[in-house]
Amino acid sequence: MNENTPLVVANLKANKTWDDIATWLDVVAPKAEDFKGTIILCPSHPFISSAAQKIRANGFKIKLGAQDISKFEQGAYTGEVAASQIKDLCQFAIVGHSERRQNFAESDEVLSQKAQNAQSALVSPIFCVQDKNTPIPQGVEIVAYEPVFAIGTGNADTPQNAKSQAKEIKTKGNFIIIYGGSVSEQNVAGFIQQNLIDGVLVATNSLDPQNFIRLTEAISR
Ligand code: PEP
Repeated sequence: MNENTPLVVANLKANKTWDDIATWLDVVAPKAEDFKGTIILCPSHPFISSAAQKIRANGFKIKLGAQDISKFEQGAYTGEVAASQIKDLCQFAIVGHSERRQNFAESDEVLSQKAQNAQSALVSPIFCVQDKNTPIPQGVEIVAYEPVFAIGTGNADTPQNAKSQAKEIKTKGNFIIIYGGSVSEQNVAGFIQQNLIDGVLVATNSLDPQNFIRLTEAISR
């Protein structure tokens, strides 16, 4: 992975129309210019292409990621989006988010297949683990430690515990580890200051672009 750290991944989930996303890009892009790390926006699949065009046309310093990809490489899989289809539009794909595991019964085996498909298409999986015991597929470079109790609850893990989980995860490979779960403008610096944590994954506090900018500024301070 050649991107500058810290990585700040904005997972918009099933929120926002194209107009909202275009506004998000216009508001965040000027601030992204000064940011030392890498901002990765993950919109819903239908908007990836328009977002990629807008980023290219304006030279915005924002990268794109998919929120998920298919376990299939391509073919007769109605409704699926394969990594090979998005590879020219985005460099990253979130794989193994706990919402996928819980709501769509995605198993470790399925997630391993998704991670492999992403890598074959040269899309870098941002592989989510719920704790240090979650299996991590071969070849994964970016791991997001996302404890379920912290997701969308306002009840973030402590930076110290996140660091100790990151330390255990690092024993399995030389990953870039990011933290996700109720990251906010108030707590983000505490996570980034941990030397084993190289970024954050943010959902709720990425939805309002001004709020997201304040969060990235809190890292730079
Ligand atoms: C997430 O769902 O990946 C996440 C980090 O959510 P939130 O920021 O809302 O806790």
